[in-house]
Amino acid sequence: MLRLKAPWEIDRMRSSGRRLAEVVVLLREAIQPGMKSRELDRLGEAAIRERGGVPSFLGYRGGGSRPFPGSLCISVNHEVVHGIPDERLFLDGDVVSIDLGMHLDGYHADTAFTVALGAVGPKVADLLDATRESLYMAIAQAVPGNRTGDIGCAVESHVDSRGYSVIRDYVGHGIGKNLHEEPAVPNHGRSGTGVFLETGLCIAIEPMVSMGSHRTKVERNGWTVVTRDGSTTAHFEHTIAITENGPEILTKLP
Ligand code: MG
Repeated sequence: MLRLKAPWEIDRMRSSGRRLAEVVVLLREAIQPGMKSRELDRLGEAAIRERGGVPSFLGYRGGGSRPFPGSLCISVNHEVVHGIPDERLFLDGDVVSIDLGMHLDGYHADTAFTVALGAVGPKVADLLDATRESLYMAIAQAVPGNRTGDIGCAVESHVDSRGYSVIRDYVGHGIGKNLHEEPAVPNHGRSGTGVFLETGLCIAIEPMVSMGSHRTKVERNGWTVVTRDGSTTAHFEHTIAITENGPEILTKLP
């Protein structure tokens, strides 16, 4: 069942989304080669708590064999999502995807971004551009009366046109009182199919894109998802509210 949000609930999600966007600004400024991914995780956790929130992913159960041990998912290079913060150092040339969620006043916000550290080739820059563009094309489809397939189709056709592959094993989702609600929001599909989008529905749209094959596997730690062929990936995500005036991005600064 879809949980449509009342205007006051969207207000709360707006404030949790804005605060999470502030944390993103901070993380983007802080991340650099030579830093441990655990250090970035601690910084993110502190920033979320300073804003009155709780990290949505810390201790999250589901999918993994044990509760997720970090506040941020930090996935490097061929890691797609659910990377666990640890003692590894970020290196010059790493492509780092950071996924973070915040629970505040009863509502979650969820966002992700990918950065390339130091000097990277034009192909990596193009992968990041194509993935980010596909997110915004998908967001434009998030209007009442459209369907989840319109979102998936927008992502997939853009990514395909650039010669990359959409990861199919992981999808976007409804969001609100729970981090993951209905409907599933795939990043591939046919327009005119899937669940109808309605005013008051809040969803996280999150294209994950591989430079090579879309096939993935989960590492032995039970969480980290990697591409089977070792291809570099990118991930961008926003939480959005579907309003009668169209999509409103909640996880960005005004
Ligand atoms: Mg998400």
